Amino acid sequence: MHTNSIIELNRKAYKKNIDFLKATFGKKVKISSVVKGNAYGHGVKEIVSMAYENGITHFSVFDVQEAKSVKEELSDKVTVMVMGLVQDEDLEWVINNDVEFFVFDKSRLTKAGKMAKKLNKKAILHIEVETGMNRTGFEKSEMNKVIAFLKKEKENVVFKGLCTHYAGAESITNYYRVDKQIKRFDEIYQYLYKNDLKPEMRHSACSAASIMFPETRMDMVRIGIMQYGLWPSPEVFVNYLNTKKSKIDPLHRVITWKSKIMSVKKVAIGDFIGYGTSFLAERKMKIAVVPIGYSHGYSRSLSNQGRVLINGHRCIVVGSVNMNMMTIDVTDVETVKKDDEVVLIGSQNDLSVSVASFSDFSNQLNYELLTRISKTIPHKIID
Ligand SMILES: *Cc1c(COP(=O)(O)O)cnc(C)c1O
Repeated sequence: MHTNSIIELNRKAYKKNIDFLKATFGKKVKISSVVKGNAYGHGVKEIVSMAYENGITHFSVFDVQEAKSVKEELSDKVTVMVMGLVQDEDLEWVINNDVEFFVFDKSRLTKAGKMAKKLNKKAILHIEVETGMNRTGFEKSEMNKVIAFLKKEKENVVFKGLCTHYAGAESITNYYRVDKQIKRFDEIYQYLYKNDLKPEMRHSACSAASIMFPETRMDMVRIGIMQYGLWPSPEVFVNYLNTKKSKIDPLHRVITWKSKIMSVKKVAIGDFIGYGTSFLAERKMKIAVVPIGYSHGYSRSLSNQGRVLINGHRCIVVGSVNMNMMTIDVTDVETVKKDDEVVLIGSQNDLSVSVASFSDFSNQLNYELLTRISKTIPHKIID
């Protein structure tokens, strides 16, 4: 744990986001809070406890390590679902702890059945089907085998969910592909139904799909980015606004990332700043050094581009972002001194640096930027 910077999480903002999501989806749709990637850089512990306070009892993670983090915080009060990888050596823990998991190939299915039988405890399965993303999921041609297995093993496994994932619902350019996926998912569901097999629930939507294609909400939505107060893409936001009279953003950024100036210095005209020659001072400059670099998750691609807030001014990163430090142009800020606050993501006075604006510069998505933020930075929930 280092103290060069701090991450603050706004409890009120988080509550507003969950209230908005609940109002949008209605009571019949369960919300699963997606907390993979250290809760998109926000910190699993803090996010799941705030989610629970707001009535969320279902969590989605990528792997077993993440499932354990959620259980550590909330034990058996909630349902945890692994959407990605369950290693063979983890199957026993998973089944013993009622952790639900996606199954997308025959070998996992067989192994789950065997382990459940051995433990004399049912494995809770979500059968993921391939509908057009071409990543993970059973092909339609494999469904007969899946059906036979689920019937034969019904003493050992629970057919909890039928699910799929869409290939880019955040952009209208993928409309045709996603629309085809929705239809294919329904065909597979109907096929199972005809074969006397019915999952307890169907789920397919991530944040983008839940807004762009409301029919994908089904019994449960798997919401990551929107609970943190960010839109999956500007297109989804515009699409949402078009359906509403009020043009106010219903989502509120939860995260603030702050540091402090460690040193201030003057640079003569004609000098280069930092490593190499990427920034030449074309005037007399004043530079603030901040103890944050790419090892903390501030991307090197924000060299000469990133914006931060210092004493109510929007200031630019000059030179390259180093492993543990970066330099900021504060020439036009009248008073700057050691220990002044530096906002990397968040607000100061009337200005704010959103994750999205910072990702426009670096050409990265909100998702990638957030998940890069180092786990070693201290987190604090602000009321
Ligand atoms: C990450 C993920 C989600 C959540 O995506 P958001 O866009 O953050 O809402 C949903 N489903 C699956 C399978 C995922 O991997």
